[in-house]
Amino acid sequence: MISNIRNFCIISHIDHGKSTLADRLLEVTNTIPENKMQSQYLDKMDLERERGITIKLQPIRLVYEFEAQKYYLNLIDTPGHVDFSYEVSRALTACEGAILLVDAQKGVQAQTLANLSVAQKAGLVIIPVINKIDLAGANADLAAQQIASILEIESSEVLKISAKTGEGIEELLENVIQNIPNPDHNTQDNKALIFDAVYDEFRGVISYIRVFSGSFKSNDKIKFLATKHEASVEEVGYFGMDLIKTDELKCGQIGYVICGLKDISESKIGDTIAKIIDKDSYPKALVGYKEPQPKVFASFYCTLGEDFVKLKKGLEKLKLNDSALTYEPENSTSFGYGFRCGFLGLLHMEISKERLERESNLNLVVTTPTTVYKIIDSNSQEKTLKNPSELPNNPEKVLEPWIKMEIISPVEYTGSIMTLVHSYRSKHLNTEYLEGNKAILSYEFPLSEIMTDFYDRLKSISSGFASMNYEVLDWRAEDLIKLEIDIAEKPIDAFTQVVHRDQVQTIARKLTEKLQKLIPRQLFEVKIQARVGSKIIASEKIPAMRKDVIAKLYGGDRTRKDKLLKKQAAGKKKMKQLGRVEIPKDLFMKFYK
Ligand code: GDP
Ligand code: MG
Repeated sequence: MISNIRNFCIISHIDHGKSTLADRLLEVTNTIPENKMQSQYLDKMDLERERGITIKLQPIRLVYEFEAQKYYLNLIDTPGHVDFSYEVSRALTACEGAILLVDAQKGVQAQTLANLSVAQKAGLVIIPVINKIDLAGANADLAAQQIASILEIESSEVLKISAKTGEGIEELLENVIQNIPNPDHNTQDNKALIFDAVYDEFRGVISYIRVFSGSFKSNDKIKFLATKHEASVEEVGYFGMDLIKTDELKCGQIGYVICGLKDISESKIGDTIAKIIDKDSYPKALVGYKEPQPKVFASFYCTLGEDFVKLKKGLEKLKLNDSALTYEPENSTSFGYGFRCGFLGLLHMEISKERLERESNLNLVVTTPTTVYKIIDSNSQEKTLKNPSELPNNPEKVLEPWIKMEIISPVEYTGSIMTLVHSYRSKHLNTEYLEGNKAILSYEFPLSEIMTDFYDRLKSISSGFASMNYEVLDWRAEDLIKLEIDIAEKPIDAFTQVVHRDQVQTIARKLTEKLQKLIPRQLFEVKIQARVGSKIIASEKIPAMRKDVIAKLYGGDRTRKDKLLKKQAAGKKKMKQLGRVEIPKDLFMKFYK
């Protein structure tokens, strides 16, 4: 029996140093040759590097010798932002332990608590670690006290490191080896959980698995228990600098399996792979993942001349690697065929758009994000609306999701935070205090209220010190009505919003003013009107453009004329036709910000 495997992940609030710590762990274990090493090594996507954030979980195997024994350490780096918590929860199920990082300067933050609580529920051994002790203004002792009192341990038990300078890294590794248990050894059945997947043009689906019992090797006949697909294993291996082929993946190990799957829908994250031994009896599936519930919806459309089929293929591919994404075809009166997509939050929406554009070479229009609503009709039937334009003009009862929000902030900002929160439709629950002059403010909020500028405002009034986390609580009936926007006297369904009756006038005025600034002038005058039912409640005008591009070029110069027309056509590619009106493709993005 092997007892030298350790499976662990690194969790923390965003920016507390997970990916940097992963770099140091790669270095002390000589996992990546020096000339191939670069910082934030595990942030493999360009988008992650550009934005400096981790979006995807990323596993890698490290080998470390301790007390004359070789250990195989499977490390999974995770994202910190609340929108990607589904990635974290999946990483956790593949592990026995977690390193919980806390920034020595910032101390415990909202996602520190949120991720900790998920890891504890998953039964993981927690190793609390204070990072960034090299920072001049850091108070590592205070941060250690904060986390120690939450975990109900002595603050002397909290490790202190600098992922930047490498201080304390070897002690941490040894701590991981000593405190995180070896995976259970289980020979009954041969089962593995799929915790992630990527699509490779040549090899098809590559499933990332954690083996929970028995073992897998090439030529094994396997079955995906949920999708019922059967296949033959082409290759198994583990995660090194690249995918590294091995003979066998044994119980407790983390690795990948390739079995020539070309149809993405045959592979589902959270599914169990089982070896087929007896054609008539299969083992019970492992506990998979709760399907994440999308909280934010928006529609994706192609810009002029782009291809709907390409968008569909792109979404399929993205979905394989991002199982939190949902989508279904939609036909909008303003935009034609597209997809209504569901996301876990606004950042998730933005990242999905960018990934689709890059990975599938598309040019997309994304409509204003909204939350999901429910209506109850006169027959007491409940209906879920993913699109505000589905709301009838006089519904019986409209329900919206409410969240519980926790804001962690230095005590000095709590006054202004309370004032800010009060300007939204919120309810204060309670305030608790942490070591080191920090408060945890708990609120109930309608989810729709935090969709626009709440987070930015919270950051700005707290000089960046406050952090927030939320989870959906329940559905509540509110006095909600449908606000529609007409452009050039045509209702544009993509702008329809569900708003609270008390706020409708203010919102209507803001929307029309904003649209007036964002829609370019056209060859004719354009009226922008906000309407509830048949009643116009706010309106603006965009004056007509005076000249078109070639009006000043009469006669002769054909080539110049062509050039200008070409330029205009190129510009048009980035436009979208809304009735008679042309709008820039990023209009909605600017509109909600
Ligand atoms: P993640 O979001 O948790 O993965 O955090 P990153 O590893 O991306 O680090 C966030 C920022 O903190 C980066 O600018 C890092 O260079 C910086 N950082 C990480 N660890 C340390 C540390 O020990 N000391 C200092 N001074 N900076 C650090
Ligand atoms: Mg990171």
